[in-house]
Amino acid sequence: MEIKFLGGANEVGRSGFLLKGSRSILLDYGLKIEAVSERPLPSGKVDLCVLSHAHLDHSGYVPAIYENSFPPTVGTPPTLKLAELLIEDSLKLNRQKHEKPLFFKHQFRSFMDRYIPRSYGSGVELDDYGVTLHDAGHISGSAITLIENRMGRRIAYTGDFKLGEQLLQRPAEIVKADALIIESTYAGSEHPDRQSLIKRFSAEVMETVQSGGIALMPVFAVGRAQELLAILYKCGLADRVHLDGMAKAATEIMLMHSDFLANGHLLGKAVKAATVVETPSQRRAALNAGSIIVTTSGMLNGGPVLDYVTKLNRNSRIFLNGYQVEGTNGNKLLANKPLLIDKKKILIKTPVSFYDFSAHAGKSDLHRYIKSSGASTVFCVHGSPENAAALMEFLNEEGIQGYAPNVGDVISLDFD
Ligand SMILES: [Zn+2]
Ligand SMILES: [Zn+2]
Repeated sequence: MEIKFLGGANEVGRSGFLLKGSRSILLDYGLKIEAVSERPLPSGKVDLCVLSHAHLDHSGYVPAIYENSFPPTVGTPPTLKLAELLIEDSLKLNRQKHEKPLFFKHQFRSFMDRYIPRSYGSGVELDDYGVTLHDAGHISGSAITLIENRMGRRIAYTGDFKLGEQLLQRPAEIVKADALIIESTYAGSEHPDRQSLIKRFSAEVMETVQSGGIALMPVFAVGRAQELLAILYKCGLADRVHLDGMAKAATEIMLMHSDFLANGHLLGKAVKAATVVETPSQRRAALNAGSIIVTTSGMLNGGPVLDYVTKLNRNSRIFLNGYQVEGTNGNKLLANKPLLIDKKKILIKTPVSFYDFSAHAGKSDLHRYIKSSGASTVFCVHGSPENAAALMEFLNEEGIQGYAPNVGDVISLDFD
């Protein structure tokens, strides 16, 4: 068998890995969304596609494979619904930026029509291969893919995963495998302890709202928004929350698939206690003193957050909670530079705090996963060159055969 790295190798974004044995299996096919949408390399003929989760860096380009061939795509039920939401939004942005279309409507329809929904612990058969999905603990519906051949040889692909518990996701399942394709986003650093992080976060939010300020929380629509709602509910702050932007639709989808959440009940109660912003008057009311606004987009590059951010009172504070890609408004905000809003440069003077509520495994959890999987060959993907190198160093120390491939590399694997 050969593995071709079509994207997401020594970079974060546009994940795409093609396994070529007696049949071709494509693991994810995403986009890198920066100034322009960067696509992965062409996949060639695909017999089966597996979608690890809905985030666009994994799902955004999957419909493009439905040009001449029509393979099934397997993934969990919430992954399809959430991917549909995110892909539709990316196509809209694509049109607004006058970019070349990523793919045609009929390809998007073919992807949806040929999707095979599977729960954790189940999957599909493809000739000599059995493909099963396991909980990745990253976002609702995120899956680790296990491919096993008739000889019992196993390859696992983690997608994005988290071993530590979140309020809404169970920890990732550790899958035994001979070869492992693993993300390395945070291979060089540890995340802070979640409990003490929540304590500090809730104290600062409380201080902001009690002083009459507004706590503005730009969030990613899928995953972070809902985890934050649950955290705010647990801290007794849910009745101050105003939920706006695409996070609303994503939350609805997750509640419809609550068996893919560790605690769907908690998310349901958090949404019920909050105000879901639907009308202009509700949007004005969200700006009342002492309120909390949870809204997209997470990097302040679009969405209602851009309207709110210019209207905060002097006691307000902005709470960033996810990685801010260079060149985005969120990154500019952290660097105290003016934001670009409606083609105008606007300097925001509201203080900013950053809380690392990451849904990815940190350094020691990546090590623990690799050791527990029993893999003797490991491919480090979905990480900057520095992070992939950090994971390679660990693999060398452990005497495990490691690779940090570049985009376009083809590596053969003793599997068939
Ligand atoms: Zn992800
Ligand atoms: Zn990712």
